[in-house]
Amino acid sequence: MTGGGGGRRVITRRWCEGDAWHSGGVDESDENHQAVHLEIADELLTFLPASRRRVRQRVAHDGTSTVGHIVEAVGVPLPEVGPLTIGGTRVEPSHRPQAGDLVRVAVVPRPQAVPLENGQEAPRFLLDVHLGTLSRRLRLLGLDTAYHNDMDDPALVVQANEERRVLLTQDRGLLRRRALWFGAYVRGTRPDDQLRDLLGRFAPRLRPWTRCTACNGVLLPVGKEEVEEQVREGTLRSYDVYGRCEICGQVYWRGAHGGRLEEIVQEAERTVASVTNFASP
Ligand SMILES: [Zn+2]
Repeated sequence: MTGGGGGRRVITRRWCEGDAWHSGGVDESDENHQAVHLEIADELLTFLPASRRRVRQRVAHDGTSTVGHIVEAVGVPLPEVGPLTIGGTRVEPSHRPQAGDLVRVAVVPRPQAVPLENGQEAPRFLLDVHLGTLSRRLRLLGLDTAYHNDMDDPALVVQANEERRVLLTQDRGLLRRRALWFGAYVRGTRPDDQLRDLLGRFAPRLRPWTRCTACNGVLLPVGKEEVEEQVREGTLRSYDVYGRCEICGQVYWRGAHGGRLEEIVQEAERTVASVTNFASP
């Protein structure tokens, strides 16, 4: 992993890759350079180095760089970028701007649509190695969530692409990988904030209590008599509905962890409902 922080360090490395900026990058004082202007949405400024965190940016332009390349070179990962417009006209990231153009860079719209296959209810996710707590919460909500604590960047991209999973990460470098089909930056340091951010972004259909939080397996309903040997007598007396993970065999019952998980589920449902209602006409 290259680490989540250090936006400045990442930018510096980008400039060294011999792209359009290598001979000086952003140089607001040098009028000899042709320039393109960016107007960056407030929500995206967090990706810029602190010293350059301004909505308006004047960037040197060699006439051949694409809009996507220019936006990424100032630090904003393309998966976080919404519509790009020049003079009110939508342009693709592959568009080559003219000197003097003003490019408006919007944040990705919420809720953001994810391409789903036939019969697929909600996006599938793959979480970067540092997001273990978030992965368990997404599984609690019934979202198909792959997570391993030992995968390197190339392996993450391969699995995300092969299984059409949205790769969730706090590593900006990972989001810049061209091969990645769909990625998203997770905002927040606390799992509560991270979960709210993701639910607000994707507003996925939730199926709480249907998935194993340990391994992501689907829970199959089982009768009380089938779990007698695996759960305590007191539990058997108190609960009637059980599920067993189809993969690892772990037995679950509602209320197993007190009210905290119920709280997480209820707040998640409220968050998704608020985004969905807001998005409806
Ligand atoms: Zn399991």
